[in-house]
Amino acid sequence: MAEVLIDLRHIFKTYDPDGKAPVPVLNDVSLQVETGEYVAIMGPSGSGKSTLMNIIGCLDLPTAGEFYMGNENVLEKNENDLSDLRNRMIGFVFQNFNLLPRETALENVALPLLYAGMGRKERLEKARAALDAVGLSDRAEFLPTQLSGGQKQRVAIARAMINHPSILLADEPTGALDSASGRQVMELFRELNQQGVTVVMITHAPEIAENADRTIRILDGRIAEGGAEA
Ligand code: ADP
Ligand code: MG
Repeated sequence: MAEVLIDLRHIFKTYDPDGKAPVPVLNDVSLQVETGEYVAIMGPSGSGKSTLMNIIGCLDLPTAGEFYMGNENVLEKNENDLSDLRNRMIGFVFQNFNLLPRETALENVALPLLYAGMGRKERLEKARAALDAVGLSDRAEFLPTQLSGGQKQRVAIARAMINHPSILLADEPTGALDSASGRQVMELFRELNQQGVTVVMITHAPEIAENADRTIRILDGRIAEGGAEA
């Protein structure tokens, strides 16, 4: 029996930057993702995808609702426990790669291990293996500016997976890539999913969503299709 890994129940998110005009962005969103699934969350620009990703990634809190990750009640955690949970459970991939521009590919990949307190030698060894796994052994000493978009995203994927998180969470991972590089990124996601990683990929592009096994549609901050099973 597959178990539910990500369980969002009746999530609301309202932004109110100046305290005068509350903007409702997520409106009663319920969705469940099982361990080992590969899902796409698809919707047009402005529909609330990134807001939802930030909540799933424990980077932002909902205004109301319930959120469980495995057995853990996410919304009851303090800042420290939340960042622990995030580091342990989730690898992030963003549209614009978010690599440190002055660090080599290898140093970028090794960075999460530095935060985890690992020594330099072991860090770089693991980072080399991770770069190897995305086919970039020969680019270890390159700076991000010396890499193509597709190579940058593969470095970002190696960094996301270096701590062996259960979940790969990606926001428009192919949004800045040409179609050939996009395909390579999709092949890597599929490989990782076959290795047991739960993949949640956010996209506005149907041809990218097609790579997932299930598509959840979001429209104006509401789940339009494919959300909660129950
Ligand atoms: P998507 O990723 O689907 O394009 P977003 O989640 O980024 O959509 O944004 C959904 C809506 O929420 C947009 O109307 C946006 O203007 C609004 N929004 C997002 N972040 C904020 C914020 N920090 N403050 C106010 N409004 C926001
Ligand atoms: Mg977005």
